[in-house]
Amino acid sequence: MGDYSGKRGKVSARVKVRKVIIPVFMLLFFQFVLSWNPAFSEEVRVRVLTNRASVEISSSAPTYLINNKTGDSITFAVNRATYSFKPDASGIKMVAFEGDTPPLADFFPCEIIIKPEIAKNKISLNKREYRGALLIKSENFSLDVINILDIEDYIRGTIKYEISPRWPEDAVKAHIVAARTYALFQMRNKKNGDFYLESSVLSQVYGGCSGEDTVADALVDETRGEYIDYEGNIIEGFYHACCGGYTEDVLNVWGIQRSYLHRTRCPFCKESPHYYWEKKFSFNQIQSILKKNGIDLTGIIEIRVKEKSSTDRVLNLEIRHQKGRLHISGTDFRRFLGYNDLPSTLFTIHQRNRGEIIFKGRGWGHGVGMCQWGARGMALLGYNYREILKFYYPGTEIKKLER
Ligand SMILES: [Zn+2]
Repeated sequence: MGDYSGKRGKVSARVKVRKVIIPVFMLLFFQFVLSWNPAFSEEVRVRVLTNRASVEISSSAPTYLINNKTGDSITFAVNRATYSFKPDASGIKMVAFEGDTPPLADFFPCEIIIKPEIAKNKISLNKREYRGALLIKSENFSLDVINILDIEDYIRGTIKYEISPRWPEDAVKAHIVAARTYALFQMRNKKNGDFYLESSVLSQVYGGCSGEDTVADALVDETRGEYIDYEGNIIEGFYHACCGGYTEDVLNVWGIQRSYLHRTRCPFCKESPHYYWEKKFSFNQIQSILKKNGIDLTGIIEIRVKEKSSTDRVLNLEIRHQKGRLHISGTDFRRFLGYNDLPSTLFTIHQRNRGEIIFKGRGWGHGVGMCQWGARGMALLGYNYREILKFYYPGTEIKKLER
C-alpha cells in the first residue's frame, strides 16, 4: 500500500476513510483503458497550479489514487465528494467533505496521482475541469499540481486562450500544428523534469476543458499528430499574436540561431487591432517599475533607443538619469514594464516635457515564428494551413507522429 502506511496512526478513531484494494485484473483493465488509443499516444505534463496552501478536487465519476514514487495503488477515492488536499509535514493530508457527515481524513505520501477510473471522465481542480490525471506534489509545505494527459487533449485546452476558434479553419489549424510542435519540442527537451510545460504565457496558455471548443476539436482531430520538422528534428514552434509587418530573427530575441526562425516580411496582419498601438508612461512610473525589478535610478531625464534590429525592433535602450546612464535590452525593458503594457519591442519613443513618455508601436508579442493575425490574413486570402506554416517557418515540412 505504498510508503504512507506508517502514518495511518495519525488518523483519529472517529475519522475513517473507506479503502478498497483494487484487484490486479481491474488495474490491468484501467491501464488498458488509459493507454488504448487507435493512433499514437504522447503524454504531456503541464503544471496547472503551483505554490498552493490547499487545492480542492472533485469528480462526478469514480477515481483512484496512485503513489507516484512507488506506483502502488492507494485507494478508491469516494465518489461524488469534494476533497481538500493540504501539505503536511510528512506528505499530503486529505479531507473529504460529504454533506453533513463528519469530514473524512487521511494522510498520503508527498506525490500522489489521481486518475478517473474511466479515461474519458474529467476531474475538477479548484472548480475547473481537466482531462487525464492530476499529480499532486507536496514540497516545503506547498502544493503543485501537474496535469498529465494526452497531447491532443492538451492542445484542445489551449484553443480558446491562444486563438479565436471562430477564425478561418486554416488559421486555426496552423495554430494547432504550431502549438503541438511547441509542446513536443518542450517534451523532448525536458524529459527528466516533473513537467514539461507551464499553463501560462511562459509556455502556452492552457485552461483544461475551459479552453476547449467543439468546432476546433474537429480541427485538432483532422491534424492529429502533425508537427513541424526541420531536417529531421521537431522545431521550436514559437508564435505570437501580431508581428506588425516583419517577424523577428530569433537571434535578436533569445540569442539562438535557427534558420527557420528568421526575419520575414508579413503583409497579412494589418487587420489586427494590435497592428498600431500607443502607450503612455510617466518617468516616475518607469522609475518605480524598474526599482521593483532591482534597478535603482534617480530622476530619469531621458529615455532613448540606442540600437535597433533590421526589423526596427528595439535591441537596446539608454536611460539617462541624474546620476548617470543605464543601458537595458529592449526585451528586458518590455518584460519589466509588462507584456500587456508594452505590447512589443517594435516602437519609437516620443518624449514630452512633463516627465512623460509615449511609446508608439506595432504588433503584439516577441515577433518570432508564426504571426497569428498574419495566419488569419493568409487563410482569408485562400492559403491553406500547410502553406501558412511554410511561410512562417521557411525550409520546414509537416510530419506526423508515428504510432
Ligand atoms: Zn504579421
